[in-house]
Amino acid sequence: MTVIDTLVVGAGVAGLSAARLLGRAGRSVVVLEARDRVGGRVHTDRSRGLATDLGASWIHGIRDSPVAAAAEAFGMRTLEFTVGGYQPDGRPIRSFDPSGRRLTDAAARRFADDIHALDALLPTIVATSAPAATYRDVTEAALAAQGWDAERTQRAREYFEHRSEEQYGAWIEDLAAHGLDDDVIEGDEVVFPDGYDRLAARLAVGLDVRLEHVVATARWSDAGVVVGTGRGEFHARRAVITVPVGVLQSTDFVIDPPLPQPVAGALGRLRMNAFEKIFLRFPHRFWDEGVYAIRQQGAEARWWHSWYDLTPLHGAPTLLTFAAGPAAVHTRAWSQKRVVDSILTQLRRLYPDRVVEPTDVHRTHWQDDPFARGSYAYMIPGSTTADHDDLATPIGGVLHLAGEATWTDDPATVTAAMLSGHRAASRIVGSDIPISMLWADDGGETS
Ligand SMILES: Cc1cc2nc3c(=O)[nH]c(=O)nc-3n(C[C@H](O)[C@H](O)[C@H](O)COP(=O)(O)OP(=O)(O)OC[C@H]3O[C@@H](n4cnc5c(N)ncnc54)[C@H](O)[C@@H]3O)c2cc1C
Repeated sequence: MTVIDTLVVGAGVAGLSAARLLGRAGRSVVVLEARDRVGGRVHTDRSRGLATDLGASWIHGIRDSPVAAAAEAFGMRTLEFTVGGYQPDGRPIRSFDPSGRRLTDAAARRFADDIHALDALLPTIVATSAPAATYRDVTEAALAAQGWDAERTQRAREYFEHRSEEQYGAWIEDLAAHGLDDDVIEGDEVVFPDGYDRLAARLAVGLDVRLEHVVATARWSDAGVVVGTGRGEFHARRAVITVPVGVLQSTDFVIDPPLPQPVAGALGRLRMNAFEKIFLRFPHRFWDEGVYAIRQQGAEARWWHSWYDLTPLHGAPTLLTFAAGPAAVHTRAWSQKRVVDSILTQLRRLYPDRVVEPTDVHRTHWQDDPFARGSYAYMIPGSTTADHDDLATPIGGVLHLAGEATWTDDPATVTAAMLSGHRAASRIVGSDIPISMLWADDGGETS
């Protein structure tokens, strides 16, 4: 029987980062991956001739970002696209009022100023909020402190609803008050015209990755870990498990003995979200030129409120919108035609007589993906930001959980995944491995 030093379950960015760093530290590592590809929730489709990122697209802030450093070292082209954090301003955004009329520049400025005023209050309100407070509770407290009229209050209220949906794929009343604590963007945001998956492909170079190995069990003891797959058992001294929270919570993935505290408690307070991307490619651009995003306000904007102009990525007129939170839940079983018709109805309010049928539509189904079970994790009321780190508490000296949900500062991102993989590897070798080892001395390796 071969005993591997470290088994890594999952070849997403967390697993690949852990495996690569452990390999560089001289450990023998095998990565078990359920899918027929690496990258996990970093996934680029090229079947339509252009690179379309169906999972992550943005680096949400390139300042001091290890993902930005890796991307640069790997020679990945980037394009600045700084509205991925649902900012109210900072880049050109075309906004429409509830009746579908364009907001004047002055009205758009006033609205953005309102959001900034509320955002300035929120950290204090969140810090003193009750343990079970929701993001709705704290945003309502911030709104109540303003003394604004009903119309002005409602516009800002909707904005917070949409921010919870777009940032966390969750309805505002299901998200913990602390759920958006980490929502600070450091520096510009960028996207990848040639696809985010190049990052995963480069991280995987030279690793022993066993694709199409669906892990069903992980039995652990002082002696090590035995991992059961449809293709047999693997024995290791220790394991890093990076499957998404939704998989960890499912009965298809059994950890035996069950996860101890504080890991189990933290896991119980996280949920996979509902967040889908819909890419609409058109024969020509019928919307405003030179804007990063189009947004509408009011009741009609309940589901379809924001569109991002991806035309600069490839020169093909393309809008990206999200079915996020309730919209993703409600439209999950809808046909593509019904979803597209519903979106176009809204666009026609904003651009009457100009909207044409899309020539191509690409819609994701992360909620139905058995190896993701949603797009990323969010904090339910009663959780605190510490739950993320608690989830990564080493278990019995042999089991380490890693992945986006295990990182407190900026969870739900590729950066969190990478940093969590780095932490797991450092804990296993017993010293801090420089994270730059992920991309240092990379010359000569090809993807
Ligand atoms: C639609 C969408 C948009 C996003 N947008 C952004 C963005 O713009 N910027 C950003 O930073 N982040 C974004 N994210 C989040 C980001 O993609 C994730 O946080 C990150 O990729 C997670 O990496 P991970 O390694 O933790 O998990 P994963 O990438 O999910 O890796 C886990 C791996 O485990 C495998 N696995 C699951 N079950 C099993 C099993 N039973 N046996 C073996 N293997 C298994 C999976 O196939 C997967 O490869 C987005 C995600 C989605 C889905």
